[in-house]
Amino acid sequence: MESRWPACGAGRQSVTPAHTKAALLTGPRGMVAVASVPVAEPRTGELLVKMEACGLCHSDLFVASLEKLPVVPLTLGHEGIGRVEALGAGGAGVAGFAIGDRVGITFLASTCGVCELCITGRERFCQRQLNFGYTVHGALAGYAVVPAPLLVHVPETLPAAEAAPLCCAGWTAYGALREAGLQPGQSVALFGMGGLGHLAIQYARHFGLRVAAVDVSENKLEMARSLGADLALTAENAGRTLQKQWGGADAAIVLTGSPAAIQQAFRSLKRTGTLIASGLSTNQYELPIVDTVLKGISIRGSYLGTRADLDEVFRLAQSNVARAHIETHSLEQAPELFEAMRRGEILGRAVVAF
Ligand SMILES: [Zn+2]
Ligand SMILES: [Zn+2]
Repeated sequence: MESRWPACGAGRQSVTPAHTKAALLTGPRGMVAVASVPVAEPRTGELLVKMEACGLCHSDLFVASLEKLPVVPLTLGHEGIGRVEALGAGGAGVAGFAIGDRVGITFLASTCGVCELCITGRERFCQRQLNFGYTVHGALAGYAVVPAPLLVHVPETLPAAEAAPLCCAGWTAYGALREAGLQPGQSVALFGMGGLGHLAIQYARHFGLRVAAVDVSENKLEMARSLGADLALTAENAGRTLQKQWGGADAAIVLTGSPAAIQQAFRSLKRTGTLIASGLSTNQYELPIVDTVLKGISIRGSYLGTRADLDEVFRLAQSNVARAHIETHSLEQAPELFEAMRRGEILGRAVVAF
């Protein structure tokens, strides 16, 4: 089927390099280090992808904070853009992809494909999913070997480094906003102005919403204002401030893992408002039951989005409606970038360009 792939045994050597450099998590709660790792030969249904760029996500730090890891050492990264370099097993099981195609790697590596969630377009909730940079090696490496089914095509017109954050930050932010189910003219409060938040403002404006941006960093609030947030508030007492200024928000979306942010988000809601939790954390949040009941508050989790959401995120970037603010770095800088991210110092998204 894939005639561009040389026939097996035709005397051609594999194009798969023996080794590549990768940003590795060295162990549970371990350090991030750049080291050389072996590259697997792609098997049936898999592709070898030469990476062009990969974003750094707070979920990478979440994985790094876990007490147990399924793979050690683990190549991090789930915001990868690259080109197909080779098709496994002569191209069997990789329909729709050809050598040279530009592809995106997200957090979803594979799902079962047959459960109720998978067959109704909600495969992101599949119980048997594998995740890049968590349960399988990720995209913060010169090469990645990936299963074809959940790989996405990425428009050629977007620079790789700018497209990378859309694979997680953009997709997650867009999915969370759509989950909020708001109508034009309604209001949303966005908590956390990092990689997700700065894109969420742009999607919210695209949806015709009134937008309040909340963060602890004045630099990030400044960015939020420049992106068109109607209100930019420091996190402390943001809930009360929103009650005073707007009479509360129709929805609050928490894009960080901070329990303090969830608390403020809850306080910021109008009666019958919706709280969407989207940032990952191992922390707990104590639910105020009386207010939840008497004010008719809805609380939902939101994880990634639909396949259509991801296509839309790429389309909105292509048409200049919502673009990622990025700073690019070399792979060697990954360890210090994760530390800077932990300290909340990254404006927009840090992206490794290969
Ligand atoms: Zn992510
Ligand atoms: Zn499934």
